Amino acid sequence: MKKKRIYLDNSATTAVRSEVIKEMRPYFSAIYGNPSSFHSFGRKAHAALNNAREKIASFLNADASEIFFTGCGTESDNIALFGIVNAAGKKGGVISTKIEHHAILHSCQRLEKLGYETAYLNADKDGVVSVDELVKAVKDDTLIVSVMHANNEVGSLQPIEKIGEVLKKINRDRANKIYFHSDCVQTAGKINLDVEKLGVDLLSISAHKFNGPKGVGALYVRKGTNIAPITYGGHHEQGLRPGTENVAYIVGMAKALELSVKEIEEHDKHIRSLRDKLKNGIIERIPNVIINSSGDKAVSNILNVSFNYIEGEALLLKLDMAGIAVSTGSACASGSSEPSHVLSAMGVAAVAAQGAVRFSFGWQNTREEVERVLEVLPKIVKDLRRMSPVWNNQNN
Ligand SMILES: *Cc1c(COP(=O)(O)O)cnc(C)c1O
Repeated sequence: MKKKRIYLDNSATTAVRSEVIKEMRPYFSAIYGNPSSFHSFGRKAHAALNNAREKIASFLNADASEIFFTGCGTESDNIALFGIVNAAGKKGGVISTKIEHHAILHSCQRLEKLGYETAYLNADKDGVVSVDELVKAVKDDTLIVSVMHANNEVGSLQPIEKIGEVLKKINRDRANKIYFHSDCVQTAGKINLDVEKLGVDLLSISAHKFNGPKGVGALYVRKGTNIAPITYGGHHEQGLRPGTENVAYIVGMAKALELSVKEIEEHDKHIRSLRDKLKNGIIERIPNVIINSSGDKAVSNILNVSFNYIEGEALLLKLDMAGIAVSTGSACASGSSEPSHVLSAMGVAAVAAQGAVRFSFGWQNTREEVERVLEVLPKIVKDLRRMSPVWNNQNN
């Protein structure tokens, strides 16, 4: 019998739900009109877009006119950052964090090259940034603050509400508003998002992280925000994101978010118990491991573990041979041998950062799968350590 494969890389991407595929299907065939066309074909597609926009807006406690469809989470992040600084019309400060996804981090580095002054907030050992440090980083010319909601490598939750409150106070005494963006790609569909509660002006989501299709995302932009497009073309998405909308995928994204939000509590409970089972099992069975952030200050679906003295990549490959899919650091960092920028920012020692592996759960994972991982993992780690010169030096 063929071995069943186990997918524990749900923070990289997720399987599209069958209900979502079903919802999308007519828009590849029967309802193929261009939503910008005025005839009945177009109007039907346009109605589907409106419906999806309203649905997504309602889940974020936003107005439909504040939702802009994009090609992915990365594009949402880029439009947020470059859109705000471009509209400002003058150079200024940009504040972000050392633990952002590359979609933000590399955009900030580009802004730095263009002459914007950038500041990156530190993270503590749990992978959480400080509101006080943010307040100190604010300057007269600060244009935008971008802080992710949950980190994609370790799951640490950032104090978005507090930052939102503090910025609101700071903005009261300023002529030039500091805009607040949050990359919520890792929390959409997992935590109830409310733009008012969070106090954000801009917020990014991506469908494929919550069982929707790849290649579609959304950006929330608060009404009245001074933002300019970064690409030019038609009037689509109020001119902020020109190009014919991907109707089928947008419909799929709305359905995926609806299903995820409906099942948030149930899924969270299930996933949390799986994560804790794996975490406790690893601690019990394997010596010399470090848990990189978890518990109260993190989302429930990510478990990042350092297996000291071995290479995370080697462990990933061995697990893959056993039919278990995990990742080292972030999917985007794989292929580079640099230690994760997130773990470095958290002060994780190099020997531990090299051996870091991320297990990320989805609602389809089962207890049996976790038991299977706990069966094979200790032996793989032991074998790899036996081959590790560092381990042998330490333990002889
Ligand atoms: C996956 C991810 C992105 C990028 O989203 P894409 O849709 O893959 O471009 C951005 N930020 C975070 C935190 C992510 O996890």
